[in-house]
Amino acid sequence: MRVEIAGAGLMGRLIGWRLTQGGADVTLRERASRDAPESAAHVAAAMLAPVSEFPDADPAVFEMGRASLELWPPMLDALGVPYGVDGSLLFAHGPDGPLLDKFHRSLGALGETEARWVDADEVGRLEPALADRFQRGLYLPHEGWLDNRALLAALEPRCGTIRFDDAVDPRALRADVVIDCRGIGAALPGLRGVRGEAIRVRAPEVALARPVRLMHPRYQLYAAPRPDDEYVIGATQIESASTKPVTVRSALELLSAAFALHAGFAEAEILELSTGLRPAYADNLPRIEWDGAVLRVNGLYRHGFLIAPVLLEHIVSEIEKSWTSSATATA
Ligand SMILES: Cc1cc2nc3c(=O)[nH]c(=O)nc-3n(C[C@H](O)[C@H](O)[C@H](O)COP(=O)(O)OP(=O)(O)OC[C@H]3O[C@@H](n4cnc5c(N)ncnc54)[C@H](O)[C@@H]3O)c2cc1C
Repeated sequence: MRVEIAGAGLMGRLIGWRLTQGGADVTLRERASRDAPESAAHVAAAMLAPVSEFPDADPAVFEMGRASLELWPPMLDALGVPYGVDGSLLFAHGPDGPLLDKFHRSLGALGETEARWVDADEVGRLEPALADRFQRGLYLPHEGWLDNRALLAALEPRCGTIRFDDAVDPRALRADVVIDCRGIGAALPGLRGVRGEAIRVRAPEVALARPVRLMHPRYQLYAAPRPDDEYVIGATQIESASTKPVTVRSALELLSAAFALHAGFAEAEILELSTGLRPAYADNLPRIEWDGAVLRVNGLYRHGFLIAPVLLEHIVSEIEKSWTSSATATA
């Protein structure tokens, strides 16, 4: 089977990997240069956080996220990608305390009972670096994170041939199977960009094992761990398709949140300030749909990493169905 994929971000690479393993001859066409990635996947914090997302997401996302948490570890082990599935912690500072209570109540109203309150002692046991910093917090035991850039790098030599600097219209590609994974670059009707800004820092004075979130009136701010003392501090959530650099306001908010979380962030080195666009439809749900001969995969919004393994299963089965029916028609 000869496969052409437009877009070598998260889904393009994952699909290419899976189909290559099955013996397909896969070519990916990527608009960006190899050394100047433009994917949302490159910027993302890649938290696997179904419960944190639950109050603001469709229940389908929660279910897919839950199922994907089981599917990720063997995939990441096979690829040698760092990850953690030890849960996450959620805190609020002084005036934002009621937001944490409201969040907990909304989980309860949805029937989600796994989030549990932890006191200062337990916070210290879970994250010694945060001992004595918070009197209470919420522990969400079934959440995790993965190293997004290690994943993209590990997939690169395994997903087929990536042709960089090659912006394409997938409708012009010819192959047995053509897949459109261009994210926001697809510019499809109804698809919008949701701007997210994130800051990468190296903070050897902070040692967090799991993602930690802080309630905030506009969005939850978080520090997601990476190997080598690095953290992704994120992320803003702005209804805008602007890719202009990170604003001063956003940088101040993100860095203040990090500093409020742990004073060790004051001495952190800022490695990068980056902006990405989350591709989203009006219902913020992903879509896998045929546009003539092209299979479109888009609308992963802020949940791409969270739900990717389950989507991958759907996509592969969709491709197998179409391949089998075209083979039958030819016979
Ligand atoms: C700041 C931020 C934080 C995030 N945090 C999380 C998180 O914690 N957890 C989570 O689950 N998700 C998170 N996400 C969301 C996640 O990154 C996306 O859902 C996911 O990357 C979407 O995958 P995709 O393959 O559809 O698109 P992308 O990863 O954006 O890949 C699309 C690719 O297509 C290429 N392309 C575009 N146009 C063309 C063209 N014409 N021809 C060829 N190639 C083209 C692009 O250059 C890009 O490489 C975050 C996103 C952002 C921006």
